[in-house]
Amino acid sequence: MILPKTNRLTPEQLNEVTAIVAEFGCKIQPIIGAVRTIYAIVGDERDELMINRLEGLDYVDRIDRIQSPFKLMDKRSDLASHRIKLGGIVLGEELFVVAGACTIDPKNPNYFYETAHAVKEAGAHAIRGGVWKPRTNPYTFQGDTKSLDILMEASRRTGLPVDTEVMEEAHIKLALDAGVCCLQIGARNALNYSLLRAVGKAIAERETAVLLKRSIHMGPISEFISAAEYIAAFGNPNVILCPRGTTPTIDGYRNHPDESITPLLKEKTWAPVVVDPSHSVGKAAYVPACALAAVAYGADGLCIEAHVEPAKGIGDDPKQALTPPVLAETIRQAKQLWQLRRGGIEAKK
Ligand code: PEP
Ligand code: MN
Repeated sequence: MILPKTNRLTPEQLNEVTAIVAEFGCKIQPIIGAVRTIYAIVGDERDELMINRLEGLDYVDRIDRIQSPFKLMDKRSDLASHRIKLGGIVLGEELFVVAGACTIDPKNPNYFYETAHAVKEAGAHAIRGGVWKPRTNPYTFQGDTKSLDILMEASRRTGLPVDTEVMEEAHIKLALDAGVCCLQIGARNALNYSLLRAVGKAIAERETAVLLKRSIHMGPISEFISAAEYIAAFGNPNVILCPRGTTPTIDGYRNHPDESITPLLKEKTWAPVVVDPSHSVGKAAYVPACALAAVAYGADGLCIEAHVEPAKGIGDDPKQALTPPVLAETIRQAKQLWQLRRGGIEAKK
């Protein structure tokens, strides 16, 4: 990783470093951070001669050689000071909340509009709504591109940014063209490296963020962070990690709640952690406790399914969506707990 003395390299300087690393079979990938741009050396960056030549350039501050499989997302990376802005706040400075329906019902758009207003009223910073849905049963509703218009209309009506899941390259383009601020990679696709790469490429020159769910097939924590690295490696480090429950399941819960991995993630990566309690426990009655547990474990935010009338919803909403009053109370308590933690345990660290 090349750290220049200035905020970014001039085109001539970039050409020079690109030519040097090319002699050693490497390429340069600029990573645009909030404050400055750093330059990842893509390829085998261990050649001492290459490093010496780069270190000899008078506009280079230093070369950072982190021995990590996820050198951008690593907590020791120069990007550790990078901050992600979403929904009018900086993640890490306030508890971030994204909430909304699991699945937008294209036949009943008013449910989504009403839910979006209720979510805003409850204190959320962004709205979630599924346009394209990964469903276990191939004969159930798979989502509908028409719902993208409903999602964006809800965004216009509330003034809040939106998050939606993309499952294939075509979805990425449609979502970005429509103005979606946060692309969600679902648990089923979190290990789909071609999709991760496609998302990384598509958001490279944008401010778009990615909410990367944890796959139930992921083993070590490093596998989760490496998936984020796939996206960041194309130049946009706005990747948010989202634990959402894993296997084995506990009788009564949809998945095995995994908000407790938050401190482990935070030990290894600077990426914000936004926990999804809804898919974790899978039942509305258990979601508030799981949300608070996530905040107690140090989460930077929550992704919660909510619906004005859960029983009339589709997808996961009838079983796990919170009603607006429960959502509002959960957010209120979660924000209080976040402040308590911040002023107490965190301040004493
Ligand atoms: C969802 O957010 O509605 C969803 C399908 O999530 P996951 O990928 O975590 O199952
Ligand atoms: Mn869902």
